[in-house]
Amino acid sequence: MTTNLLDEPTVTARRSIAGLLEPLEELAAHSESVRACRYGSFQLNRDRYSLPCFIFTGQGLGGTDPIRLAIFATIHGDEPEGALALVEFYRELVRQPALANGYQIYAYPLCNPTGYEDNTRHSRGGKDLNREFWKSSAEPEVLHLEDELWRHHFDGLISLHSDDTSTGLYGFVQGPDLSKELLLPALWAAEKILPRNEQRIIDGFPANRGLVQQGYDGVLSAPPEARYAPFDLTLETPQAAPVYLQVKANVAALKCILSEYRTIQAFGQNI
Ligand SMILES: [Zn+2]
Repeated sequence: MTTNLLDEPTVTARRSIAGLLEPLEELAAHSESVRACRYGSFQLNRDRYSLPCFIFTGQGLGGTDPIRLAIFATIHGDEPEGALALVEFYRELVRQPALANGYQIYAYPLCNPTGYEDNTRHSRGGKDLNREFWKSSAEPEVLHLEDELWRHHFDGLISLHSDDTSTGLYGFVQGPDLSKELLLPALWAAEKILPRNEQRIIDGFPANRGLVQQGYDGVLSAPPEARYAPFDLTLETPQAAPVYLQVKANVAALKCILSEYRTIQAFGQNI
């Protein structure tokens, strides 16, 4: 009997989710400050997926409510740089917990697990998940993320992306003016590591020194009808730059945001 190779199913090697998450799982296993969670499981053909979340609880809360931040990465499956940055960021917080005093941080390193496995921007369902928010989307990843956004009333949202068409760092802001007040110092901090995108038009939007104040419809954001309005910013690193520099730039930006926002909060409480 002869086998026609064309009839054989095509098997493409998938990237390993466990491999990507292992360093964060390891941190959760060894540090009391980091807790690993899985939420929102869903089935796709024969495979079952869930969305991981790693919660870092800072010290110095003193009975007060923590500042709750959410950081989202790899909603485009071919942009794992944000997830790698979260690993380094958490390692640094474990080494220097004072950086996160007063905070509870929810890191969502893998918002598009099937796209990550397939190394595609879209999910295996064929959607750009970052155009689906608050539009009654049926995509399970989006439904679960929307649920998280409703439930936790975050004070701030940060999305990490890596842009293969950009030669430098830039960012989008949504929500209150505070978003811009935080993105600007974050870009200055990250600019010590990678150049800024100085183009006047980025991704089709007017830009001023890497700051873009418009955005696409349907991007991950706070619920439109919510009574709270978190700061909301997106950091984009140039994907062609070495990964370790993109990671370093993101970590510098995230540390800067923690410090700046804490200062703004403290100032706000004193006036
Ligand atoms: Zn992206």
